[in-house]
Amino acid sequence: MGNYNVLNVKTSFRTQFVDITSQIKQLVAGAGIPEGICHFYAPHTTAAITINENADPSVVQDIIKQLDKLAPWQDNYRHTEGNAAAHIKASILGASQVVFINDGRLVLGIWQGIFFCEFDGPRQRKVLVKIIAG
Ligand code: ZN
Repeated sequence: MGNYNVLNVKTSFRTQFVDITSQIKQLVAGAGIPEGICHFYAPHTTAAITINENADPSVVQDIIKQLDKLAPWQDNYRHTEGNAAAHIKASILGASQVVFINDGRLVLGIWQGIFFCEFDGPRQRKVLVKIIAG
């Protein structure tokens, strides 16, 4: 295994946003570096990572609803595996995010949380987390 942490994320539904903020914060605290960056990355083609509000769960529900409108599950896609919508949603949100570390903590806005976004679950997934001092 490389010089990074691996978070295992088990999803239970086809579409599911899993709040991984506390696990990422724990890894940052464990790294014991005062200043730096934390890069987290989902090595999957039908999942993504996003940062958005985790206080009001209706925000995530609205994001999921609008992504479903942009990429309905059935839409005469060319990809024959049957999960083209999941690939499209994953690319819209992107596979990774970076957050600064200051005073040993993630610099997140008060309402911000980090979500692993499943679009073709349920599956066993991974998030790779690289913490760099500096
Ligand atoms: Zn596919």
